[in-house]
Amino acid sequence: MTDLDFSCKCGAMEWRILDGKAGKHIACYCADCQTSARHLGAADYLDASGGTEIFQTTPSNMKITQGPEHLALMQLGPNGLFRWHAGCCGTPFANTVKTPKFSFSGMVLPAGYGSLGPVTAHVQTKAANPPVKEHGFAATGLAILCRVLGARITGNWRDTPFFDESGAPVVAPVVISKSDRDAARPAPRL
Ligand SMILES: [Zn+2]
Ligand SMILES: [Zn+2]
Repeated sequence: MTDLDFSCKCGAMEWRILDGKAGKHIACYCADCQTSARHLGAADYLDASGGTEIFQTTPSNMKITQGPEHLALMQLGPNGLFRWHAGCCGTPFANTVKTPKFSFSGMVLPAGYGSLGPVTAHVQTKAANPPVKEHGFAATGLAILCRVLGARITGNWRDTPFFDESGAPVVAPVVISKSDRDAARPAPRL
C-alpha cells in the first residue's frame, strides 16, 4: 500500500496515515456527514449515494505533515461530533469525539479512494440516496472499541494532534447555526 499522503484542496495543509492496515475503510451515509460536507463546500467528497468514505483509526496513526495552523473544528450542534477540517479551503479532514481518551479518528477520504483496500462496511444507510445496502456496522463498532482499549492500555491515546495535554481541543469548536445546518441538509429520499 502506498500513497497515504493527503492534501487539502488548496495544498496548505497536508497529512499522512502511517499504517493503512491499522484501521477500517468504511462509508457512512448519515445525514450529518452529508450535511457537513455540503456545508464545507465539499460535496465532491460524497459518493453517488451521498456516502462519505472514512478510514477509522486512532489519532496516533496519523500525522499532520504541513500547515497544522489551518486545522479548524466545527459541530453541527452543541452535542455533535467534532468535525475537523482544513479551514483554509473547507476540506474535510477527520471526525473525533470530544475527548482524547476515546482514541478514535475517522479520517475523511476523497470519494473512491483506492489505496486503503475496498470499503468493508456501509453504515447509517437510511439517508443514502439512491439506496445502499447496510452492512458491517457491528464489526466496525467492535473494531473501534478494540482500538480505543488498546490505546488506553499503551497510553497511545495521548498522541493526538486534536487535543492539548489538558484534554481540550486545540482550536475552539464552531457550532454552525440551525439555518446553515438546514440549508446543507440532504434532500429526503423520494
Ligand atoms: Zn486548504
Ligand atoms: Zn456519518
